[in-house]
Amino acid sequence: MKTVKYLRKSICSLPFVILVITLNACGQNTSSIQTKSITMSESSDSISKTDEEWRKQLTEEQYYVLRQQGTEAAFSGKLLLNKEKGVYKCGACGNELFTDDMKFESHCGWPSFDKEIAGGKIVSREDNSHGMKRVEIECAKCGGHLGHLFDDGPTETGMRYCVNSASLEFVSEKEMIKEVKQTLDTITLGGGCYWCVEAVYEMLDGVIKVESGFSGGSIMNPSYEAVCTGKTGHAEVVQIVFDNTKTSLDEIFKVFFTVHDPTTLNRQGADAGTQYRSVIFFRNEEQMKKAKSIIAELNKEKVYVNAIVTQVSPFSKFYLAEMHHQNYYENNKEQGYCKMVIQPKIEKFEKVFQARLKK
Ligand SMILES: [Zn+2]
Repeated sequence: MKTVKYLRKSICSLPFVILVITLNACGQNTSSIQTKSITMSESSDSISKTDEEWRKQLTEEQYYVLRQQGTEAAFSGKLLLNKEKGVYKCGACGNELFTDDMKFESHCGWPSFDKEIAGGKIVSREDNSHGMKRVEIECAKCGGHLGHLFDDGPTETGMRYCVNSASLEFVSEKEMIKEVKQTLDTITLGGGCYWCVEAVYEMLDGVIKVESGFSGGSIMNPSYEAVCTGKTGHAEVVQIVFDNTKTSLDEIFKVFFTVHDPTTLNRQGADAGTQYRSVIFFRNEEQMKKAKSIIAELNKEKVYVNAIVTQVSPFSKFYLAEMHHQNYYENNKEQGYCKMVIQPKIEKFEKVFQARLKK
């Protein structure tokens, strides 16, 4: 429990009319609410900063509300009328507290919510200041003051989280989609039999999705059988969607050059034909440059006895292979090819990238 009780100094400086509204709006007794306060040190990912650090990070108004248990003037907050879709986070630490569908119009002068995002993100404590018996709510992660909780809500939960705009940061759905898109990247790689390559990338941390299919050929929607003839020009490929904040294009390439042999032209072990060629299909200049530079580096360092024959080609189209080719290794572990060919590649990958496996 925090032991320091800050002075609610600015309440006294609010105009009289606002003070009255404040006390009326938040003045009900809240006897039915069970407080669930915890000591900050009990929370595993709690944030603790010095008063000076908070002062530096927060605006004057945020500091007053979040760190000094202040209350912004009624009907003044920037999020009071906000109806956009999105998430309301703690303005001090980014802890996600409410979503737009939890907000309702309470006419009390502060943003109001009828429930919180589950997971103990908000803690509450009795607040007996100003001659009232209320329940104060604060962010469980940083201890920032949010507002008060009442049991007079008009929705089925019966609850009203009365929260200061200054305690919140709103991130709209549009902004979130943009953020996610910026961190995701896609690359298409041919490293021989796609069953093998897919199985390996599925295990790498930061890889969101791996699909087996065909790229680089001349006909549309080729079947597996057609590609196997070697006449369609397609290569067996995997299309990898990955999160740039958890892995990187460099790491994706490192895995690629670890788990297949880039020096055998149109062949991986016993699998022969142009459909088994080693190829990187790049989508942009960055992918092209990185592919060429890692190949040049591996050649220069003589990592392989023979020169690398991996093609670096512009991506045009990816055709998803039939469903029974997806997650093939996972579904056919006992099969001979999987045991003989795929398993050793996976073991090699696990050894080299031990620390980078999905948990
Ligand atoms: Zn917080």
